[in-house]
Amino acid sequence: MTNNIGIITGITGQDGTYLAQLLLSKGYKVIGIVKDASNINKSRLEYLSIADQILWEQCCLTDGDEVIKLLERHQPSEFYNLAAQSSVLRSYQEPILTLSFNTLSVATILESIRDTDKSIKFYQASSGEMFGNVNKFPITENSTLYPVSPYAVSKCTAFWLTVNYRESFGMFCTSGISFNHESFLRNEDFIIKKILNTAFDILAGTKDYLEVGNIDIKRDFGYAPRYVEAMYLMMQHDIPDHYILASGKSVSLREVIFYIFDKLDISRDKVVVNQDLFRPNEIMDIYGDASKAKKQLDWQYELSFFEVLDIIISESINAVT
Ligand code: NDP
Repeated sequence: MTNNIGIITGITGQDGTYLAQLLLSKGYKVIGIVKDASNINKSRLEYLSIADQILWEQCCLTDGDEVIKLLERHQPSEFYNLAAQSSVLRSYQEPILTLSFNTLSVATILESIRDTDKSIKFYQASSGEMFGNVNKFPITENSTLYPVSPYAVSKCTAFWLTVNYRESFGMFCTSGISFNHESFLRNEDFIIKKILNTAFDILAGTKDYLEVGNIDIKRDFGYAPRYVEAMYLMMQHDIPDHYILASGKSVSLREVIFYIFDKLDISRDKVVVNQDLFRPNEIMDIYGDASKAKKQLDWQYELSFFEVLDIIISESINAVT
């Protein structure tokens, strides 16, 4: 058991929930930050039966006075910043909101830590989307950033702020550059969860088909509960740095859809491609190399995405039966 106090922003999301579970299992006091304490979406934390172990705090993450008061009140040892407008698609619809929240919140938190207690360790949830249009694979920590969506631009700014505070002020600012990671608790706006939900709706007879955009794009998908372990390991490491978190392989959405449909015995004819759903400036293929995290943090990750899908499908079957 430890006397550690961990603040988690974005705790109600997929990663925040699994990270809270991990920190609680290690004896941490976990402070969960929400934007509106009168309206907290606790469904994921309730699913893991940990909602009542969280100390809930309302805080506007772009308001320096509020963040400083939060830090003074709780004196955390670790601050995990997972809150973000996290959808690439929504970032095209709401670029200003995405850019302003995803960057200002990070600047505000870093500046508040600098003002209050520079020994607080800070983790920033960065994204593989920051690399965007690259043609040299696999992506490593040294690959060039070329963001192609407002979301990715916002994550690049937040990433560089994290590097900048580390280098300029000697603060413990670390960052995981995660490629897509999924789970049963994934937000329903995201493609894998959408595919699964629609597959179950087809089985239940409430939907006739799955309508999709470009399913020839390939992505590097991992398993969320295992990715939060790497976030924790980064905060325990002696030296703050940034690390790619990836499975190392990409699979196409076509392969994923057919795997799920075959497994659930749904005809492949029920997949309908709609050109209107194609995104502007789509990245066709992307995968990362997590060797640095594996070597320096001793992060163990060997799952193929089809193994991950097996876990999620069986959890989904349990949830509907
Ligand atoms: P989710 O979308 O599941 O969760 C996002 C969280 O951020 C929610 O708790 C949400 O709270 C909170 N949030 C959003 N807007 C605000 C706001 N204005 N003020 C306070 N809180 C806010 O994301 P994930 O858990 O999947 O991802 C966690 C982080 O990791 C994000 O920063 C994401 O961009 C990043 N990331 C995720 C990847 C993935 O594959 N999952 C890959 C790479 C990076 P509420 O629901 O109340 O709005």
